[in-house]
Amino acid sequence: MPVDPRALESLLAFWADAGVDVALADAPQDRMAAGLEALKPKPVARTAAAPPSKVAPPADGVDAAAAQTARALAAAAGDLTALAEAIAGFDGCPLKFQGAKQAVFARGAPNAEVMVIGEGPGGDEDAQGAPFVGRAGKLLDKMLAAAGLTDRVFITNTVFWRPPGNRTPTPAEQAACTPFVERAITLVAPKVLLLAGGASAKHMLNRTEGILSLHGRWFEWRASDGGLELPALPTLHPAFLLRQPAAKKRAWEDLLTLTERLDRPPRPT
Ligand code: URA
Repeated sequence: MPVDPRALESLLAFWADAGVDVALADAPQDRMAAGLEALKPKPVARTAAAPPSKVAPPADGVDAAAAQTARALAAAAGDLTALAEAIAGFDGCPLKFQGAKQAVFARGAPNAEVMVIGEGPGGDEDAQGAPFVGRAGKLLDKMLAAAGLTDRVFITNTVFWRPPGNRTPTPAEQAACTPFVERAITLVAPKVLLLAGGASAKHMLNRTEGILSLHGRWFEWRASDGGLELPALPTLHPAFLLRQPAAKKRAWEDLLTLTERLDRPPRPT
């Protein structure tokens, strides 16, 4: 049966997104035997429940000490250069130790009206040290240019190290980086946030719905300390648009929604 190369490409991209980055493991695995094993009845455990561990893991999976360090480092950064250095020196996000080559912070106008927040760096970003520089980034740039936003954006991510296999960052990894993202928002002082992709929108807005339901609707983003609020617009991730070109129209409508608000004349007082 002939294979449609576009379908194959889309399937491979889906697997890559899901974290499947090898076709063959180093050692062969007998899946038939594993399957039979799973069907055998399991003995009912008769041992007493394990005693609680000495150090209870934080309920939300976030390392409290790392979070405190991140907050202190972020607060001490007086400008974006200092913030980039603080991020590079921060050891509290586990992603830093999972194969990433370097920290990837941001690019764009330091006093931008729009802050674009993606999910996390991919392979190209890890190699070049800047966010959204691969295929998805090129599409993002084209869309921003078409909307007249090129010089009006500052671009960053919810995490600053490439997740292995380009998987989606976990909420705990995102939480470890949050103080730096919030500090970047304070320093740039944009008028609006554009949240690219479900992992960014859900994390930044603390929502559980999928991006197809969130995109194109305005939400209010609030800093964790409640000190800052900004309008935030979720949109479809450009990597998704590369796989589903038919969805580009919806992302374009999101950008028009954004520029309409940005360029709306202020109400007379
Ligand atoms: N995808 C993202 O979410 N961010 C990048 O920087 C690159 C790809």
